[in-house]
Amino acid sequence: MKTLRLILGDQLNSRHSWFSKADDSVTYVMMEVRSETDYVKHHIQKIIGIFAAMRNFANALKRKGHKVIYFSLDDNANKQSLAENIHHLIAKHGFQRFEYMLPDEYRVDKYLKALCKEMDIESHAWDSEHFLTHRQEVAEFFEDKQYLMERFYRMMRQKHGLLMDGNKPVGGRWNYDKQNRKKLPQGVKVPAPLEFHHNHSELFDIIKESGVAWFGNPKADDFPWPVNREESLQLLGYFVKYLLSDFGTYQDAMHTNEAFVFHSRLSFALNTKMLHPNEVMDAAVNAWKNKKADLAQTEGFVRQILGWREYLRGIYWAKMPEYEQLNFFEHELPLPEYFWTGKTKMNCVQHAVSQSLEHAYAHHIQRLMVTGNFALLAGINPDELDKWYLGIYIDAFQWVEITNTRGMSQYADGGLLASKPYVSSANYIDKMSNYCQTCYYNKKQKTEDKACPFNALYWDFIDRNREKLSVNQRMSMMYCLLDNASHSRKKQSW
Ligand SMILES: Cc1cc2nc3c(=O)[nH]c(=O)nc-3n(C[C@H](O)[C@H](O)[C@H](O)COP(=O)(O)OP(=O)(O)OC[C@H]3O[C@@H](n4cnc5c(N)ncnc54)[C@H](O)[C@@H]3O)c2cc1C
Ligand code: SF4
Repeated sequence: MKTLRLILGDQLNSRHSWFSKADDSVTYVMMEVRSETDYVKHHIQKIIGIFAAMRNFANALKRKGHKVIYFSLDDNANKQSLAENIHHLIAKHGFQRFEYMLPDEYRVDKYLKALCKEMDIESHAWDSEHFLTHRQEVAEFFEDKQYLMERFYRMMRQKHGLLMDGNKPVGGRWNYDKQNRKKLPQGVKVPAPLEFHHNHSELFDIIKESGVAWFGNPKADDFPWPVNREESLQLLGYFVKYLLSDFGTYQDAMHTNEAFVFHSRLSFALNTKMLHPNEVMDAAVNAWKNKKADLAQTEGFVRQILGWREYLRGIYWAKMPEYEQLNFFEHELPLPEYFWTGKTKMNCVQHAVSQSLEHAYAHHIQRLMVTGNFALLAGINPDELDKWYLGIYIDAFQWVEITNTRGMSQYADGGLLASKPYVSSANYIDKMSNYCQTCYYNKKQKTEDKACPFNALYWDFIDRNREKLSVNQRMSMMYCLLDNASHSRKKQSW
């Protein structure tokens, strides 16, 4: 049966069973369309990275003998919408069947289901063969019990036999967090990030000429990210060889001279499916088996992928579309302009934002405890924040962006994902970084002219949300502190 199969820009999984052998009756279609570039304003490296990787993927399929139709952004035949291009191809080539891989985003899932309904040919959705859980697995695992990442993670370790010794975790512990998470001391040498130096100037020109809105440093003539499977594998190899051995130890460290510290930078390759989570975790576990990394580092890394990544995806499919409306604290303030420019005297925010504009990347703690922390303390509307996080990071796709942003970072789901809000005063930022040392503001001051804004904002957040948070046992110490102090003592205790 003459079949048309759609491959989306984040479905570049060359090991999918679709591609095991070329079939003359099957044609694949891939498209660069405005409907996908314009739903939010994106960092230009994200647009270039995805289009470049899609082009490479299409060419690799053609080389293997598959039939591929590729609509580039500037193609005259491109109708700039997934549905219109598909309808047009079905009418033009007489396809009798339409197939697609289950998309990761609710928006696209709904769109493709509606598209299939309006077609008068057969259609079928395939699994993307990427994740280790199916869409409803997290919801089924917890049923009506409280969601807890740790429980899910342990089940996943057992189910996949990863870092297990029979039924028990190797080394006797599930979690090595206490050993990890140190500040970056002076003198620790961080290996330079592996960059790929592509020239994507032509593609950048096409994007500019088409009028797509974008921001950030394009790095078009020296593009650093992996844009095919071979490079993704190289990046994985580089991480395992040079970075994994210190990954966990400095996982939460932030430093003015180190944008990436010992992080893997694998999220783009993973989220576009150029890499499979199993091969990434296997590489780390093998390094541990070969004594190239200790257990604490390896477990810390496996936890992020087997635990957090799958868990957040499960929450996404359990709770969408309601999740994207949640605003537990009813925060309504607009996003400050300096989130788009980095121009602020707060050294931590300045670094996290400027680095994001430069590299389309910030690591987890910069996202969570600097920009996210500031936004939550200040009361920024989570809708605005979602758009920002979804646009600025090269790895941002809604299933993993919104759960991290609304859930983990903004507590907008009222505690479904995080047991208490991730908020802090200058103390935590100073503990994990060197930002405060050269900041215009004083990390110790609370009310004076140069007092760090995080300090007053922190206690204001605690105070103004008493009704919502004082019932949370994990917050009770903060309310005791607040209540036991007189107004002036409160200031002292800050
Ligand atoms: C507010 C906020 C927004 C975020 N938005 C995104 C996003 O849009 N896309 C995205 O992939 N991650 C997001 N994260 C999670 C995390 O920050 C990134 O996965 C990580 O920084 C990517 O860099 P890395 O590949 O160097 O990760 P590493 O630190 O090297 O971690 C290895 C891998 O573990 C996975 N991982 C680690 N932490 C998480 C997490 N919390 N959730 C899911 N997977 C995780 C990623 O696949 C990552 O590549 C967000 C976190 C926060 C706090
Ligand atoms: S003093 Fe405050 S604003 Fe400055 S870097 Fe430290 S936490 Fe950030």
